[in-house]
Amino acid sequence: MSNFKVVATEGKARAGVLKTAHGEVQTPVFMPVGTQGTVKALDPEDLRNCGTQIILGNTYHLYLRPGNKLIKKMGGLHQFMGWEGPILTDSGGFQAFSLGAMIEHGVKKIGRSENNRDESLARGPLVSKITEEGVQFVSHLDGSKHLLTPEKSMEIQLDLGSDICLVLDELLSPLHGPEYVKQSLERTHRWEIRSEEYFRKGVRTEGERGIGPQLFGILQGVFDKEVRVQEARWVTGQDFAGISIGGSFGTEADWAAAKAIDQTISWVVPLLPVSLPRHALGIGEVRDLFACIERGIDMFDCVAPMRRARNGSLYIGPKNGGKVSNKYTLSISRAEFTADPRPVDPGCSCYTCQNFSKAYLRHLYLAKELLYYRLATIHNVFFIVNLVKSIREAIIDHQFELLKKKWV
Ligand SMILES: [Zn+2]
Repeated sequence: MSNFKVVATEGKARAGVLKTAHGEVQTPVFMPVGTQGTVKALDPEDLRNCGTQIILGNTYHLYLRPGNKLIKKMGGLHQFMGWEGPILTDSGGFQAFSLGAMIEHGVKKIGRSENNRDESLARGPLVSKITEEGVQFVSHLDGSKHLLTPEKSMEIQLDLGSDICLVLDELLSPLHGPEYVKQSLERTHRWEIRSEEYFRKGVRTEGERGIGPQLFGILQGVFDKEVRVQEARWVTGQDFAGISIGGSFGTEADWAAAKAIDQTISWVVPLLPVSLPRHALGIGEVRDLFACIERGIDMFDCVAPMRRARNGSLYIGPKNGGKVSNKYTLSISRAEFTADPRPVDPGCSCYTCQNFSKAYLRHLYLAKELLYYRLATIHNVFFIVNLVKSIREAIIDHQFELLKKKWV
């Protein structure tokens, strides 16, 4: 039985409610990413004041530091970080495969496996390696060696007390050739099945109201219709509580990537069961949120709002100059804001915009004052979380098309 219920639709866009052991989530929803047991610069009260319903925790980071066993001993991630709402955790695979290699050795691409004959990925030392068993990787913190298997990933996520766990998969890169893609997807299927088997065994205690941790499957793939359709059919045939869509969209160019996202979502969503929540992994640009929700996506996570805030890039709505070409942002360091008494976005009702001017934020940013990071992150998280919330309300009122026209 699904914990998810669709309450309204407009075209393919839908508003729903997802039940978890730590409360209900109104969808569509944006989940701020809390990499190391914190959404950088914000405390749980800030998160709640920004309208955050659910956050994402990173398995890789928490496993390496402070360790899943320590967090379990401290009562689980909710208690450890003082967040009472739902938490979704990723499998750790993405970071295990990319981060260790990238940080230590400057390898820019997603990584490679021992079977990968793709020349363009065959540069640099082999730091993370994929075998049938799992991902072998070297910690970016201290160089120690680790093996992340589907079972290990599940064990860590269950130790953390996650409400929504993700299966271990291999992220594909646009540089992978068709032969490798085929092998990799078959291995990912085996990993997803192993993840599920371990998860079922591991979930012994039921949470409140009979809801325990839930497991989402991953729809992997590359920018290829045949591959994506086949993967959508495969993942639909499994017994998952939700489906996260990941993988490669084929290109790094902005406009092409955006079109590839739209295309991929359009291919797969009609094949997915209506009764399961659909999560688009790592997507959170304003344009993409509208495009994906329009095509039937329910859940999003992305580091962009938090990272942008720290880099001086703050969101603005269309009434204040926000558009696709500037990614709905302004750069707070610009000289024109030196004596600007207005808030970042006069239409925004976040704590930062209600109390502080662009001039003050610019000063804090240039002085690298700690307060800047909190105020800027509050604004960006509030902005995106509430944009998605307003999209939800628009779907319920059959005003989605209208709202989209105002924005994109
Ligand atoms: Zn604001």
